[in-house]
Amino acid sequence: MNPREVPLIFEESVPGRVATRFPDPDVPVVPLEEIIPKDYLRERPPEFPEVSEPEVVRHFTWLSRRNYAVDLGFYPLGSCTMKYNPKINEDAARLPGFSRLHPYAPEELAQGALRLMWELEQLLCEISGMDRVTFQPAAGAHGELTALMMIRAALEDRGERRTKVVVPDSAHGTNPASAAMCGYQVVVVRSDDRGNVDIQHLRQVMDEQVAAFMLTNPNTLGLFEEHILEIEEIVHGYGAFLYLDGANLNAMLGITRPGDQGFDVMHFNLHKTFSTPHGGGGPGAGPVGVKNVLAPYLPVPTVEREGERFYLNYNRPKTIGKIRAFYGNFAVLVRAYAYIRALGGEGLRQVAETAVLNANYLLTLLRPYFDLPYNRLCKHEFVLSGRRQKKEYGVTTRDMAKRLLDYGYHAPTIYFPLIVEEAIMIEPTETETRKTLDAFAEAMRRIAEEAATNPELVRSAPHTTPVKRLDEVQAARNPNLRWRPT
Ligand SMILES: *Cc1c(COP(=O)(O)O)cnc(C)c1O
Repeated sequence: MNPREVPLIFEESVPGRVATRFPDPDVPVVPLEEIIPKDYLRERPPEFPEVSEPEVVRHFTWLSRRNYAVDLGFYPLGSCTMKYNPKINEDAARLPGFSRLHPYAPEELAQGALRLMWELEQLLCEISGMDRVTFQPAAGAHGELTALMMIRAALEDRGERRTKVVVPDSAHGTNPASAAMCGYQVVVVRSDDRGNVDIQHLRQVMDEQVAAFMLTNPNTLGLFEEHILEIEEIVHGYGAFLYLDGANLNAMLGITRPGDQGFDVMHFNLHKTFSTPHGGGGPGAGPVGVKNVLAPYLPVPTVEREGERFYLNYNRPKTIGKIRAFYGNFAVLVRAYAYIRALGGEGLRQVAETAVLNANYLLTLLRPYFDLPYNRLCKHEFVLSGRRQKKEYGVTTRDMAKRLLDYGYHAPTIYFPLIVEEAIMIEPTETETRKTLDAFAEAMRRIAEEAATNPELVRSAPHTTPVKRLDEVQAARNPNLRWRPT
């Protein structure tokens, strides 16, 4: 079969075909109506596809071969930290003692799981310089919301009702979205021409109505904020909280700590920095770390230790309550724990050093072919611009990203951050070899050359993928997401 023509599994359905046949039961069968009230029963059986076992296996195996993944190749998606995730962490998450534990199991029978959460909290505090961590938020954006809710509660406790949250113009879109969801007015502060927060502008927008400044460091340009200590003074001077979007901690691990830079609160993305596979829509985990000033407001329950015993503490009068069922996505915590323990402090530091080295190496290889709006030593990632190719040859960043698919790579993040025209945001991560980086740089060089010599080839890419260039406007305005039987 041509992998381009995998039919829907419903189209392969043949009435009466089954994957498995069971022998007739040798005990009396109780009719469903006697167990479930009739109102709840379907009138017709659901229209599941009727297929044989080999058809099911082949169908999904073919589909999987049309996909792209970190396990298949280089995935330089900036701001997403698509590092290779060691399989041993999967083994740990699947240990029956963890994977078969019921979330309502009594504490005495869940001591191992509680201990893991307690120890992981200590590890993340050590890494970040925070005092406490909650694991409930299911993702980075959810962590941002949780943190802002804690900030609002702390301000209310002080008898204050502030109305604004400040975010830089380079921020991830989730920052303003979370602030708006929490009921705050979003105020945008500009970046200066070195890619730092524009301090003059920050002074202008700060006042006593600002609840928090949400900062990403290193920011989404991959640059370390050079005025972080000055920013800390300004923000705290107005009694506001300093929030770190710590989705991408890869450049900081073991080198510098947000807590020491003056941040009061932050979120981690365990599914980026700490080795949980992501990209397919989760599950992830976006733990929130706080300094002691915000600890009273943490979601319940917290995990506490008393001698050798671990327990869940629901008795926290100032808590913002629960923000997710149970304790968060537990299996993600197991992976992060295994990852951190396997690497140790030295290993984590090496992760950061190698991530930064790889990014700067790749940047050096690519610099001759693309514009670089902020020409500084980068941290875990860097942002190029395709504006030269657009202006001179009418080839956009989108075209070049599509062309990369023909060379067998996942495309980088494009058109983000918004402050860079025709942005190409590349994050190689620490898990790639020099050979991979060289090969990727060569593909990028060839695309830059094609843009000049054969622009139509790039504009009409991709040519080798199962699905060619999509009409993205049509897909956004008129999504057709459902197959109906004819
Ligand atoms: C990924 C990311 C987020 C959001 O994290 P999710 O887990 O996708 O919600 C926020 N900020 C930055 C800088 C990120 O890279």
